[in-house]
Amino acid sequence: MVFAISDAYTREQDVITFQVGEATLSTLTDVHSRNTPANLIGATPEILRKYAPEGVYPAAINAFLARINGKTILIDTGLGQKLKDNLRSLGTDPEQIDAVLITHAHGDHIGGLLDSSGKPAFPNADLYFSKAEHDYWKAVSGKSNALFLKIVEAYGDRLKLFVPSEPEPSNLPLAGIRALSTPGHTPGHTAFLLESDGSKLLVWGDLTHATAIQLPHPEVAITYDVDPAQAVATRAKVLEYVAENKIPVAGMHIAFPSVGDVRKNDGQGYLFSPFCTCLGI
Ligand SMILES: [Zn+2]
Repeated sequence: MVFAISDAYTREQDVITFQVGEATLSTLTDVHSRNTPANLIGATPEILRKYAPEGVYPAAINAFLARINGKTILIDTGLGQKLKDNLRSLGTDPEQIDAVLITHAHGDHIGGLLDSSGKPAFPNADLYFSKAEHDYWKAVSGKSNALFLKIVEAYGDRLKLFVPSEPEPSNLPLAGIRALSTPGHTPGHTAFLLESDGSKLLVWGDLTHATAIQLPHPEVAITYDVDPAQAVATRAKVLEYVAENKIPVAGMHIAFPSVGDVRKNDGQGYLFSPFCTCLGI
């Protein structure tokens, strides 16, 4: 059972906290947006008329904070624009973060890892990358990996590489969190499964960018996918996994409150139900 701890929230606020067993998960939003479908691959005019009738779909750029088994764990860092303010609103200082887990190394996920002087923004945290993601960005040519290389250097021996697996996620050295291999958007893209007191929740990174369109139509990809065909196959697998097992999800680009349920849709694909509908959102 997952529910919002506080009902004193407004539409599209930057921080909201959910209970997952005895753990909590907080959405930390950098950006609320309405995106045009220009970058989608395979979204037919019929699909867009039905699922983006105003020519835009809701989206966001989120990080998440998990408090689980006595640890304070950040999952991605967004662009880093509002991250520290959002953490502060939860009474958390950067020094208190024990670990940062990264779903993949795009700039809207690793943007908050360094402070303005290039030092680690989380001085006491271990930094977790999947080995495949790390190796991919190390080898990329050109300047697209400049930030990644700076981060790797700054975190030094606090960088921890792990190997995610599927269909069952692999253990991490952090109690209550496991790593599910979800390649396609990037080669080492990883989702993180939280488990506490019989409750589960999957933080699925960039499994969707246009949730309102890609749940009913998981075959729609986006130009940011490194391998769009693999991203589509992974999305189909993970949607089936969470719907079958009734595991709620949280997504880095799902619009506020960014946490909800996935169910099979009778007609086509899947449906996403955010966990705040009871309050009229
Ligand atoms: Zn992203």
